Order: sequence, then structure tokens, then C-alpha cells
Amino acid sequence: MENVRKLINEEIENLKEDIIASTVALIKIKSVESTAQDGMPFGKGVNDALVFCEDLCQKLGFETKNFDGYALEARFGEHSEDVCVIGHLDVVPEGDGWSVPPYEGVIKDGKIYGRGAIDDKGPTVAALYGMYVVKKLAEEGKISLDRSLRFVFGTNEESGSKCLQYYFKKAKYPTVGFTPDADFPVIQGEKGFLVFELSKKVDGNFFIEGGERPNMVPDRCIFKGIFDIQKAKDVISKKGLEKKAEVYEENGMAVIKTKGVSAHGSLPFKGENAISYMFDILQDLYEKEDEFKRFVEFYNKHISYDVFGKNLNIGFEDQKSGKLVLNVGMVRKVDDRIVLTINIRYPVDTKYEDIEREIKNIIKEYEIDYKLITDMPPLYFEKDHFLIKTLLDVYKEFTGDDTQPLVIGGGTYARWARNVVAFGPNMPGDEEVAHQKDEYISIERLLTCAKIYANAIYRLAKKE
Ligand SMILES: [Zn+2]
Repeated sequence: MENVRKLINEEIENLKEDIIASTVALIKIKSVESTAQDGMPFGKGVNDALVFCEDLCQKLGFETKNFDGYALEARFGEHSEDVCVIGHLDVVPEGDGWSVPPYEGVIKDGKIYGRGAIDDKGPTVAALYGMYVVKKLAEEGKISLDRSLRFVFGTNEESGSKCLQYYFKKAKYPTVGFTPDADFPVIQGEKGFLVFELSKKVDGNFFIEGGERPNMVPDRCIFKGIFDIQKAKDVISKKGLEKKAEVYEENGMAVIKTKGVSAHGSLPFKGENAISYMFDILQDLYEKEDEFKRFVEFYNKHISYDVFGKNLNIGFEDQKSGKLVLNVGMVRKVDDRIVLTINIRYPVDTKYEDIEREIKNIIKEYEIDYKLITDMPPLYFEKDHFLIKTLLDVYKEFTGDDTQPLVIGGGTYARWARNVVAFGPNMPGDEEVAHQKDEYISIERLLTCAKIYANAIYRLAKKE
């Protein structure tokens, strides 16, 4: 084993320049989702990245197969079982505030900058070269494998993973594998991910809108209607919300704007929910005894500022993965209905049906309707599972770090595959740069990842 590790690491060192160049080349392709075209379900940018990888994999001697622009598969070996790595080529939009151009792969102070550098182009390239090295050593007869190798490039991880859903309708599930798209040491569990709507028919001449996505804590909410401005000011000051809300008149309507603090939907306790501020104010301000008033009462009694679902009777919790967390991501008035969009991350031992039952029990009293949008069940591997044990060992051998496996509230490709978990590239204590301005991966990390991934692929390719 010691010997093989040495062989693998030397090969990676020799490929250093190629690994850097391929990462830079991929960052230069702006693979943000755009309008679908023929054979390009997520637009041209994303497809260009896929074609680049197809070409690269062929140069590296893999057999490739393009799944109609949704995914690309590279293969080696003829065994019935396989080791599969799944990375994604799409990126989120660059946003503002960059100190370097986001799509040029600028190298500065030992770091490669650009959108996708750490999420997920750098790690994908590192893992691909890792797999290439294992293939090369096997072809040279220096090591032997009990499993085939498969690399899958996905194209839609950032907006729903429709790519993998498509791919796994046509391809078989892997025997073992990982996706290099979260944290080391290894993600042994991902909480259940649920999005649903609560809606109620209301009357009244008013407008309400807050939040943009279910999985973000909304930082603004706006309400327009006919009400007394002075009274609104009094309510706001009585509640001590002067810094969180403003009131003014516009075109004969009174307007309230609330301001919260945005945060990721899996960490709602890190933010402040602008919709909750709004309903708090409306509780004392909205006087008419109508259906909207009932909705406001429901909100404040059963949701309010509580992000753990206690007052909805869904305060589930377990040892393995902690508490259920709830984020009210959006509110809208759609025609004559008020619609709330809620995102829940539920513990790995909780059943979706239990959540739905408890919520429906409460909302029927208020004549509120429930509509399921998405439910992705949790995934969980015990610590002594071959996959977790092997990946943890490899990480530890490289770093000496004995951080234990993690359970996260976010979701990765692992949910859509089977027998796959997220493994790296972030290490404990790393600065969080995914989806941020000035995203980067250090060259040192890129190479360490390539070595860790190559060794992991080799170890997974040997039967336990
Ligand atoms: Zn990612």
C-alpha cells in the first residue's frame, strides 16, 4: 500500500502543469446555465464545458459517452463492479465585487482564481487526473484493480441536478463512489431536503412580496395596502423594529418594507427573516377580521421566528444529524391567494410523511392548503461502511487530521446517485469561497486533492 501511494503521488507531481492548465481552461468557459438549444439542455456555455471534458478524457485514453448534453461519462475497465466519481461543470453566476476577472483563471500568489475554481471545476479536474493515474498504473501492470473506473461530468448541479436524474435513467448505479463537491474528511449523511407551499384564498386589496428563493433567508419583504401610517409606525416602535422596517406612502397606498439578513437556507439561524418581521408587524397592524388575518395569526402562532419547527409540531431531532431546520424563503400574493414557500432540512431518521401529517393537522384549522414542491430523502452511511471507512482513512493518511465524518444540511450529487458520498475539497478551517466573489483554489490544494482522490479511487477499486 505504501508503495502504491508513492507511485501515485509521483505520477500526480509529474502532471502538475497539466492539472493547472486544465483547471484554468475550464474556468475560462463561462458555464452558467442559459437558454436551452438543440442538444444543449442547459445552454451553450455549459455544453462547451462538457465538450472540453469529452475531448480531454479522450486524450487521456478513456472511452467516453455523451448523454444528450446532460452528462458525460468516461470509462476504463471491464469489471462488473465500478468506482464512480461525479463532478459538476456548471457554475453559479459570478455576482459583483470581484478583484480579478471571474472567467480568466488568473493565477496569483499560488492560487487559481475564477468562478468554479473550488466549486466544482478544480476538484473535478483533480479527481479526473487522479482517475487517469490509476488507469495508467493499471495499464502499465504496476497495480491491479477489481473494479472498473467511471467518471461522470454533470451539467446542472447548481439548479436542480436534472442532469443526473436524466443520466441515471439510462445508466446503472455505481458500486461505490464519491463526488468532490463539499467537505473533507467525508460527508456520511445529508439531511432530507423538502420544499413546499402553504397557501390560502384571501380577499382584500393588498400586495405582499418577500424573498427570491426557497433556500435563502429572505432579506427583504414588502407590503402595500390601505392602513394608517402613524399606527404602523407605532406598532414598529412598540416592537423595537425601527431598524428593521420602514413605512411610507406611495400612490395612495401605505407601504411597509422590512429588512432582514440573508443566509443559506440550511443555516436559517445565521440570518434574520424579513418575512417574519413583516408578519410580526401585521399581527398588530392588520385589523380587518378576514381570511388574511387568519393567515397572519397562523404565521405568528406556528412559525414566527422559530427555525426549528417546534410550533408546527415538527421539531424532530436525532443523534446522527441534529435538528430539523426550517426556512420561510418566499411569500407572494398570486391572484387571490397568499402563498408561502418553505424549505425544510430534516434529520436522517425522520420520515417525510411524519412532517406532512403534522403540518396538515395544524393548517386544516386555518383552511390553508399544502402543496409539495420537492422532497429529497436523506442519505446516511454508518461510520463503519466500507465507503466511509476507506475515504476517511485516505484523508487521514494525507493530513493527519482526525476530524470525524460530517452530516450536512446542504445537498450534493450523492442524493441522486447511490453508494456515493461527498468527499472534499474543503478542509476544516478553510475560508468559504464557493458562490462568493474572488472564488479560488490554491495550487497546493488542487494537487493534494488530486493525490487524495487518486489514492481513494485506487483503494475503492480493490474489493474489501
Ligand atoms: Zn458544487
